[in-house]
Amino acid sequence: MKKTTKGTIPGLSKNALTVLEKRYLKRDKEGKVLETPVDMFRRVAESIAVANARFDQKADLAALADKFYAMMTAFEFLPNSPTLMNAGRELGQLSACFVLPVGDSMEEIFEAVKYTALIHKSGGGTGFSFSRLRPANDVVMSTTGISSGPLSFMRVFDVATETIKQGGTRRGANMGILRVDHPDIMDFIMCKADQRQLNNFNISVGITEAFMKAVDADTDYNIVNPRSGEKAGILNARKVFNRIVKQAWENGEPGIIFLDRLNKDNPTPHIGEIESTNPCGEQPLLPYESCNLGSINLGKMVQNGEVNWERLKEVIQLAVNFLDNVIEVNNYPLEQIDTMTRSNRKIGLGVMGWADMLILLGIPYNSMKAIELGEKVMKFINDEGHAASVELAKTRGTFPNFKGSVFDAPGKGPIRNATVTTIAPTGTISIIANASSGVEPLFAVSFVRQVMDKNILLEVNPIFEEIAKAQGFYSEELMKKIAEHGTVHDIPEIPEAVRNIFVTAHDITPEVHIAMQAAFQKYTDNAVSKTVNFPNSATFEDVEKVYRLAYESNCKGVTIYRDGSRDEQVLSTGKKE
Ligand code: ADP
Repeated sequence: MKKTTKGTIPGLSKNALTVLEKRYLKRDKEGKVLETPVDMFRRVAESIAVANARFDQKADLAALADKFYAMMTAFEFLPNSPTLMNAGRELGQLSACFVLPVGDSMEEIFEAVKYTALIHKSGGGTGFSFSRLRPANDVVMSTTGISSGPLSFMRVFDVATETIKQGGTRRGANMGILRVDHPDIMDFIMCKADQRQLNNFNISVGITEAFMKAVDADTDYNIVNPRSGEKAGILNARKVFNRIVKQAWENGEPGIIFLDRLNKDNPTPHIGEIESTNPCGEQPLLPYESCNLGSINLGKMVQNGEVNWERLKEVIQLAVNFLDNVIEVNNYPLEQIDTMTRSNRKIGLGVMGWADMLILLGIPYNSMKAIELGEKVMKFINDEGHAASVELAKTRGTFPNFKGSVFDAPGKGPIRNATVTTIAPTGTISIIANASSGVEPLFAVSFVRQVMDKNILLEVNPIFEEIAKAQGFYSEELMKKIAEHGTVHDIPEIPEAVRNIFVTAHDITPEVHIAMQAAFQKYTDNAVSKTVNFPNSATFEDVEKVYRLAYESNCKGVTIYRDGSRDEQVLSTGKKE
């Protein structure tokens, strides 16, 4: 057995160590931890660097592994959880996101259940469109019986998910999508009204442009039976829209995704249509496609009160190399997924620590300056990320489905990856990096964090603690007061300048949440994971406004949460199981 390396990683927090020990580090059959965090990052760095040798026989793999190791242990960049858990190990499944097709036959449905189980076992999340399934009470030729419909089959996926703990680590997560013109749409909208149902699913209604036009014009629209392709009835668009909003107001679901918009940005329309995203909504994929994500920690990209563009560029280039290598060394759970993923080579480079960056720069999250900087930073990452992918194509070739893709056009050219950027929630990796999650504002300045059923004592935002100590207003008592209060907004002991930059999710209006999502979406190939937080007192009209605003500001979808409206969230940011 390989001996564990001692060594320490400066800046590895206590919470990070707890999470790593519980879920990420290698163990023996008795459950004894066999590696240190240093070993883990070495394992990941070395096993991912190896892929460079496939394209360059003279590649200095040791030097590259050192660079990967340095950028991960400085918490400048982390790949998604399955890569940290499984790289260089027997399982070797490195992607976080998958989409599987569900066809309208028993064979196809239960095949998809089996594939789902295999993916969940390996740590990935799955998304499905159930829109191809014939509606409830429709005919079944072979038995002259009647179909039980998409919702009944979703329950089968839900139970299967419940049963399979992912490699003993985390429970699986699913996205379920139904087109707004499916005959069972009204039941789908209501399917999570009972909070005990479909707990392993996030659900979203697949919205079409035709539907949005009908909402605006207050007209009816056609419902179509997917089995026959024939019109099965009409519904009033505004009534359906209002029902979606009402349900989302009640308990946060369904979310909505704009299907036509996802397909407008589909880089490989000649290969297939996008019908679903991964569980948290940030990654639209074709059926049988998987994607591996990675996130740059923007809080580490600030030096002397300014954005360190130079280091950011280096990290982007290294990260694109890293993520393209992941596609090479990945051990795919299914042959169809192997083929599809290698043929499009989608990667999802995104960010975490956005709120930290703003605080370090002294910019309030809810300011025009923050929105503008968000656009600027994401444009930089998108441009440099694409440039890095173009550079890789010179030695590695384009993605195999390049011909006929949107890149196969005048003014465009060879690129290695069909998509480069995605903004993930970074629910767990942000804990490992001790960073704010994704592009979300701070949830709280000080709070009691629950990690895996254990109460971990009072936790104070590290940047706030540093400032409070430096400016001499730190005390345990004050931190407790902030935790109880939820915001620093009206606590006079804290200097006003500090209060202004430590805005938290509930200090921010829904309009600003959407504006920030739209700012990042503008320069993101895939989608942006973002929750629009509402206070408990928000009204139906408030939610309606945000759903419309998301549409008008070119977002690809929207997820809202009204404080206290659900007993538990499936994947709540930062406090995920
Ligand atoms: P992490 O921080 O662990 O890398 P994220 O919170 O960024 O993960 O989520 C990214 C994607 O990973 C999600 O959209 C989903 O596809 C997948 N994922 C996250 N949590 C789970 C889970 N518990 N089970 C299955 N897949 C998950």
